[in-house]
Amino acid sequence: MIQDIFPSHLNNSYQAKQPQPESFILCFQEGRLLAKIADGVPHFPRFQEIAAQDIAPVYLFSVDDEAFFLADAAAITGYPAYTMRELRDQCAGKYLYAAFTAYHLHLWYADNRFCGRCRGTMHPDAAERALVCTDCGKKIYPRLNPAVIVGVISKGRILITRYRRGYAHNALVAGFTEIGETLEETVQREVMEETGLRVRNIRYYKSQPWGMAQDILMGFFCEADGDDTIRMDDQELKSAVWCKPEEIELQPQQHSLTNEMMKLFRDTNGQLPREYNPVQADAADQKTRIYFTRHGETTMNAENHISGVTDCDLTGNGILQAQQLAAVCAQQGDIDLILCSPLKRARKTAEIIAAQIHVPVVTEERLREWDYGAYEDQPRDQTPDFQAAKREFGVRMKGGGESLLQLAHRVYQCIDDIRQQYAGMTVLCVCHGGVCRIAETYFRDMSTDAFSHFFMGNCELRQYEQ
Ligand SMILES: [Zn+2]
Repeated sequence: MIQDIFPSHLNNSYQAKQPQPESFILCFQEGRLLAKIADGVPHFPRFQEIAAQDIAPVYLFSVDDEAFFLADAAAITGYPAYTMRELRDQCAGKYLYAAFTAYHLHLWYADNRFCGRCRGTMHPDAAERALVCTDCGKKIYPRLNPAVIVGVISKGRILITRYRRGYAHNALVAGFTEIGETLEETVQREVMEETGLRVRNIRYYKSQPWGMAQDILMGFFCEADGDDTIRMDDQELKSAVWCKPEEIELQPQQHSLTNEMMKLFRDTNGQLPREYNPVQADAADQKTRIYFTRHGETTMNAENHISGVTDCDLTGNGILQAQQLAAVCAQQGDIDLILCSPLKRARKTAEIIAAQIHVPVVTEERLREWDYGAYEDQPRDQTPDFQAAKREFGVRMKGGGESLLQLAHRVYQCIDDIRQQYAGMTVLCVCHGGVCRIAETYFRDMSTDAFSHFFMGNCELRQYEQ
């Protein structure tokens, strides 16, 4: 956008500066700016080129260490006068932004030579960017016109307009804020006036100083509410149509907020980032459904060995259990995605389900089974201290394994992230008995007793909604 001049910076804080020989002097003559254009960059006269003209330039702003002043100079040899539109169409970069900003200030100074209250003469204030009446003392400040740019979205398309007068290229719905309304109300009113549409889920995007029209522009995305039939105001607009991302024809220059918003919609294939996507934000209000299941029976389950993070295969029975679960999932018909522990037994179970319901499988490290440390792969019933040691598992696990607190920490974080990342979706987590037990405590109120007796059968399915 025009203001994106990083690493350069436009410093507009008011200072009582005097021009130096190399300072830029911006001279407007009947709305045209004196400049030379070379390779798409406007160049302005320097103070030393007009010093003989006996004028008092007004300090405007600096871009990095270059100061810009405004002056009513006579013609300067070698500098033709350009309209702002000509500069906009032919130039880019920090000097174009400087020209736009100077134009805004120039119009304000030019339109306020006399006091609107007493007709006295206005003169610049010494301490701030203001004009003061010499007769009555009335002080006025620079005027900005707030306006909104609106990307209205419906069914994966965005509303593209063309103005009847003025700018000839594609645009979005736009209009000025009237006295007595909020910006959100401006958005609703302008969209209604220009296209007859109601909107909802108004999401702020970005703003842009647009000196060429003395504006401060504020961009919003929103969603058409209900009937999306366009009833265009043909006094204002020449066209208003719903466009799919690939149908969007951008403006010839990269200057405007409007163009950036259209480009963002096109480049993301209509999937705007969550923070300003009105459609996604709506989905986030819907319920997120999370299923948990434990993998099918394994060789170690069959032998009654403790299988934490030790990898082992499904038995024939385990594969059959996974196939039966797949049939249940197909009947449910609501699963959008499978998240899966990285361990082999969970992965295999997930793949059997995915083959039946045709959804992606994503490995989620935090769904890995509880690390039983020294007890890994030990026979459950013939490990004498295992039952006794269970009382300690809450805070420590012998042999470098995870405590129950550590396990809960990662599983809770994982569920938090699933709820945020897959808001409005239905997700199946294929994991393990220990992880399922923690998940149960995340969603349901449990007594200590119920927790210690909780058991999840192989390929048992539990559903949670938030
Ligand atoms: Zn006055």
